[in-house]
Amino acid sequence: MQKFGAEVEADLSRLTVVPQPEYQRIGLFGGTFDPPHVGHLVTAINVRHALNLDVVILMVSHDPWQKSGVRDVSLAADRFALVEAAVHNVEGLVAGRDEIDRGGPSFTADTLQSLADKYPGAKLFTIVGDDAAAGLPSWERVDQVVAQSQLVVVDRPGVSVELPKQFEWLRVESPRLEVSSTDLRSRFADGRPTDYLVTTAVLNEIQIRGMYGSGERITRS
Ligand code: ATP
Ligand code: MG
Repeated sequence: MQKFGAEVEADLSRLTVVPQPEYQRIGLFGGTFDPPHVGHLVTAINVRHALNLDVVILMVSHDPWQKSGVRDVSLAADRFALVEAAVHNVEGLVAGRDEIDRGGPSFTADTLQSLADKYPGAKLFTIVGDDAAAGLPSWERVDQVVAQSQLVVVDRPGVSVELPKQFEWLRVESPRLEVSSTDLRSRFADGRPTDYLVTTAVLNEIQIRGMYGSGERITRS
């Protein structure tokens, strides 16, 4: 029997479409990204490849509570703009703003929960460099972090650390680049070269925003 017009529409309206989550395997790579550099990008790209992740989210912390009392941290909106510039057109990398939108101190446990809510059923991976891994015991609700995600640790050259024995993690090989945001900030401050340590797009955004003493803030037309 053929069906026409309204009858077909009525049938279609009874079909339930089960939405497929956009991402099934998600890497969460959190940081201050003040500024984001090639060490971050090379790490994110290689972990994504090694673990066959749909996406790695470079999650910009709103308030990196372990740093903010110790040094001046650039405005979250500026750091987010730099990360967006860094990942623009890079397949499988995105800038995350959940922690900025949530406000307050940035706890990875909360971020994983919001990712689990947003992408039900997805497998989550928390990616950290050696230095961050060494600090895991001091993280807020770290037991939730390890329960909700697979920890992934990458080499951080120049950092010699004892990793906490109580956690299980995967180690992923990535080219070891001894680059840090701290070194970059001091390079910007005293005018030493930053070429190839940050991407050109990030460098442009730093100059537009007048960050790190890189000159007058340029007003966009
Ligand atoms: P800062 O010097 O201000 O602490 P950073 O270079 O350490 O900056 P963060 O934003 O603190 O960058 O780091 C975010 C994450 O990226 C952490 O897990 C850190 O271990 C990792 N990471 C940073 N730089 C590298 C690098 N060169 N190689 C591998 N991992 C890195
Ligand atoms: Mg750091």
